[in-house]
Amino acid sequence: MNNYNTLDHHEGMVWISKLFKTENRGNICVLLNGEFQVLAYVSPDMLETRDLDTVVADIVAANGTSYKLQTNLITCSICGITYDETLVNIVDYPDDVCKHCEKNYLDEQ
Ligand SMILES: [Zn+2]
Repeated sequence: MNNYNTLDHHEGMVWISKLFKTENRGNICVLLNGEFQVLAYVSPDMLETRDLDTVVADIVAANGTSYKLQTNLITCSICGITYDETLVNIVDYPDDVCKHCEKNYLDEQ
């Protein structure tokens, strides 16, 4: 399973398995709209000649994305999940409220 318990934040939208600390292997994931998606699995032999930061950078580049660079993420005050800033309303309420929580939030006002 890839979740907040099994992954550590790496950079931008990129999260990596905590397994890297103990077993030198694991998943490289991106957090997209509250869900972790696996970009790649990294095995110990991939880390023999390169360090983890380099391997992650190569994987992100190979996926043709700017995941690593994207830092405009906002955590919803209600559910605690981090989303792209376009999915969190930080303007209209005292709390930062994501699209998923917005309806219930409004009902409680
Ligand atoms: Zn929310």
